[in-house]
Amino acid sequence: MEKGLLIVLSGPSGVGKGTVRKRIFESNDVDFEYSISMTSRGIRPGEVDGVDYFFKTKEEFESLIQQGELLEYAQYVDNYYGTPVKYVRETMEKGKDIFLEIEVQGAGQVKSKIPDALFIFLAPPSIGDLKERLKGRGTETDEVIESRIAKAKKEINMMHLYDYVVENDEVDKAVERIKAIILSEHLKRERIEMKYRRALLELEEM
Ligand code: 5GP
Repeated sequence: MEKGLLIVLSGPSGVGKGTVRKRIFESNDVDFEYSISMTSRGIRPGEVDGVDYFFKTKEEFESLIQQGELLEYAQYVDNYYGTPVKYVRETMEKGKDIFLEIEVQGAGQVKSKIPDALFIFLAPPSIGDLKERLKGRGTETDEVIESRIAKAKKEINMMHLYDYVVENDEVDKAVERIKAIILSEHLKRERIEMKYRRALLELEEM
C-alpha cells in the first residue's frame, strides 16, 4: 500500500499557524490526521489534554527525548514542544496523510530526517509589500526598522527548506491554498505513475 504523506506547516512565530491549522481541521472535507504535539508548557484555559496537546512535565519530556519517542522537538520560550514519532509512523503506514503544525527549528529537523515530506511555509500577510511594511509610516526609529529587517531576513532565509509559501493574508484563503497544495501533491506524476506501473507488473505476472 502507498504510504501517506507527511505534511509540515510551519513559519515564523506570530504568523497564525495555530489559527490556520484549527480552521483546516474544522472543515469536514479533510482527509488527513492531525499529529497532536507534546509540550511541557502549562495548560491554558479551554485546552484539553490529549486534544490540543499531550501535556507533560519537563522531566517526562526529557525522558521521552532520551527514549527516542520524538520525531522532532524544540525549546520555545522556555518550554519543550515535540512530535510523537509513533503516531506519525503508524498513520503513514496505514496510507493516511498526517499533518504537523510546528515551529521552524522543528521543521528543520523533520526536513533532515524526512526530506520528501511536504513543507509549507506560512508567511506574514504583508510579505508582498515587504518594503512598505519594513519602512513603516516613517515614524519608527532606525533601530526598530533595522530589527524588522533583521527579522524579515531570517524569515526569508528559512524559506529555502520549504516546497510552498502561503501568505496568511486571510485565514480562509490560506486554508484553501493549503488544501490545494495537498491535493496537487497527491496528483504528482511521480506518485501516480508508480501505481500504474505496479498494476501493469501485476497483470504481466498473472
Ligand atoms: P503555543 O504554546 O502557542 O501553543 O505554541 C507555540 C509554538 O510551538 C507555535 O509556533 C507552534 O507551532 C509550536 N509547536 C506546537 N507543537 C509543536 C511541536 O510538536 N514541535 C515544534 N517544534 N513546535 C511546536
